[in-house]
Amino acid sequence: MASKAITNGIGVQVEDTKICVVMVGLPARGKSFIAQKAQRYLQWLSIPAQVFNVGNYRRSDAPQPTADFFDMNNTEGERKRRAAAEAAVADMLAWLRSGGVVGILDATNSTKERRKWVLDTCNGHGVEVLFVESKCDDEDLIMANVRDVKTTSPDYKGQDPEKAAQDFRNRIKMYEKIYETIGGDDSEEDEYTYLKLMDVSKQVIINRIQDYLQSRVVYYLMNLHIRPRSIWLSRDDRPLTVWTSTLKRTIATSRFLPSHYNQLQWKALDELDSGVCDGLTYQEIKDRYPDDFAARDEDKYNYRYRGGESYRDVVIRLEPIIMEVERGEDILIVTHQAVLRCIYAYFMKKDHTRSPWMNVPLHTLIKLTPKAYGTVEERWEANIPAVSTWRAKGSTAKHENPTPGSL
Ligand code: ATP
Repeated sequence: MASKAITNGIGVQVEDTKICVVMVGLPARGKSFIAQKAQRYLQWLSIPAQVFNVGNYRRSDAPQPTADFFDMNNTEGERKRRAAAEAAVADMLAWLRSGGVVGILDATNSTKERRKWVLDTCNGHGVEVLFVESKCDDEDLIMANVRDVKTTSPDYKGQDPEKAAQDFRNRIKMYEKIYETIGGDDSEEDEYTYLKLMDVSKQVIINRIQDYLQSRVVYYLMNLHIRPRSIWLSRDDRPLTVWTSTLKRTIATSRFLPSHYNQLQWKALDELDSGVCDGLTYQEIKDRYPDDFAARDEDKYNYRYRGGESYRDVVIRLEPIIMEVERGEDILIVTHQAVLRCIYAYFMKKDHTRSPWMNVPLHTLIKLTPKAYGTVEERWEANIPAVSTWRAKGSTAKHENPTPGSL
């Protein structure tokens, strides 16, 4: 596939390279967790990314296998697992050919032989390979993972959770017999591009990262943690470490918070800049700039106000915020509607056509709690009357706030 520098539309130069992120690691090491997060992050940045989970392919042939299916001496099991891997890789390459940029192969890929096959196959199609290994020997954490997510996997549907956990433990033992960690022993793998995350990123090895997009994925993955915490979003006053924008209205809100909360102002949390339309009502924009009004309705995510910003611009400046949120613990972010929509879209995986139209009412507190493969949302509405600042596509509905960028 051709390799040339392009601007991908998010204002960032990325190489026109195709990347396959190949997960590596024993079962219950968070490979699917990492794969799903990488996909969500890249999609949020408008980089086409897609996970290909070999387990899902295998399930069509072997829906509820017991641990002995994964015994390397089980030739029938080995044949089916190999066929599943081949089908996943073939689909991933087809998807990359049709415009995909980052394919994520979610499987154990636990032997050097298997990794070499993936590498050669991808390279043969002009696709770069970034291996991402998750290594973890904390038995308590592994068993917690098994109980949390594996006993509810389709592999064990309708089965006793205790028996399922025991069977999964046996499955892990099957893989332990053949598992080889990546690189580090003067092997051919020292030439590979890889990221090795040990004990949930307490220690990290980065080997031969080749380009900008790879380094971004690596930087993001290094910042992930799995400690329980929540992210609170509000345009309102509620209780934590509080991040606000530099604009008066969010600082004013946060002033009412108890003084022992750490408060930090971020320029990146300032409201979408509506340029020449700043201070105008929607009706005034429609009267003075009818083409702009229509263009924004047509594609609100990409429309950039004259002398101002688009939602796409806001997402780009929010990237450091997302990185810090990922690194951090409990946090309350008090900010403006467009910015909240972008942050919310990241956590809730909302696509670009819908996220700019979401209704985020005033005096509402949103609690987002990251879980194994997604985010749980809760909302509280304070019983405070407020004029809605939301407007439907095509309408110029009146609103209390004269800053259209905030709507
Ligand atoms: P399998 O090979 O069976 O598909 P897996 O490696 O994909 O297993 P996941 O299904 O992703 O494992 O396991 C999810 C659990 O792993 C979650 O409970 C999550 O908190 C935890 N987890 C996430 N990252 C890590 C990590 N780096 N090390 C260990 N556990 C992790």
